Amino acid sequence: MNICEERHTPKYKVTYKGVKGRNYNPEWLVCSTCLSGKTCFGDKEQILSIISLMENEVISR
Ligand SMILES: [Zn+2]
Repeated sequence: MNICEERHTPKYKVTYKGVKGRNYNPEWLVCSTCLSGKTCFGDKEQILSIISLMENEVISR
């Protein structure tokens, strides 16, 4: 599983849209800072779903 940054504590499992034409959606464990701060992780255009690791609930689709 990919993690946003090794020293961070991921709080969400984020599924991103993959490369067009490919049936693969990369999943990343992302902390809240990266999700809201860095465009590469927080780009809503690229996000398929966000699942909280704590409550295991779907936050958005
Ligand atoms: Zn992070």
